[in-house]
Amino acid sequence: MAANWKMFKTPAETNTFFEAFLPAVKHSAHCEIAICPPYIDLAAALAAASGSNVAVGAQNLYWAKEGAFTGEISGPMLKAIGCKWVIVGHSERRQYFGETDATVLQRTKAAIEAGLQVIVCVGEMLAEREAGKTEAVLAEQFAGGIAGLTPGEFAQIVIAYEPVWAIGTGKTATPEMAADAHKAIRALAANTFGAEAAATLRILYGGSVKPDNVASLMAQEEIDGALVGGASLDPASFTKIVNFQ
Ligand code: PEP
Repeated sequence: MAANWKMFKTPAETNTFFEAFLPAVKHSAHCEIAICPPYIDLAAALAAASGSNVAVGAQNLYWAKEGAFTGEISGPMLKAIGCKWVIVGHSERRQYFGETDATVLQRTKAAIEAGLQVIVCVGEMLAEREAGKTEAVLAEQFAGGIAGLTPGEFAQIVIAYEPVWAIGTGKTATPEMAADAHKAIRALAANTFGAEAAATLRILYGGSVKPDNVASLMAQEEIDGALVGGASLDPASFTKIVNFQ
């Protein structure tokens, strides 16, 4: 269960979140929990989560290790402060910041080389779904952004299926729609990396996951977890999602 805080919260607000969240999930051993705050909150999150069952991750990274890249943060830097995870290829980065499948692959390889685990995001736009192109879009994103990994690298990623029309809109894919997309992604993984790698791949669903719809999504065998934006900002709401029943 991963939280993407996007561009929300200060370090003080991060501390307040963890004060409420950590005691509420300390017995939640059924899943891995990761919080991905903005870069400026990573230090506060890592200090707060130290010794707990909650891991911390970043929302992006640059592929060079270091250099004259003003404003960027590298994989070794994230690893050095204690991050375990990093999100790559979120649709907001694809839409607003020029992320492409090729740069998704570069970032993912760099993150893995630095010892991070990666949540690689894929998903179709509304017009693509309405045109019946969902599977074709997923295939293209997989071919350009994921298939170029080595089998060893592929073992270090989790894929998040996030239909763009469901992100932050309150529109959730039905559990069946999500499961169909997850099956398509798993088939792509099997074609490239083999049946065993595909079977152990974890695929998260993301897109307006809330406390009241998480159980029906998680009831789908194909859905291994959730990447949660808006509903992860409130500790009580994200606790209900983590401890879904
Ligand atoms: C996200 O940011 O990855 C996301 C799924 O957002 P939301 O849950 O707000 O739709």
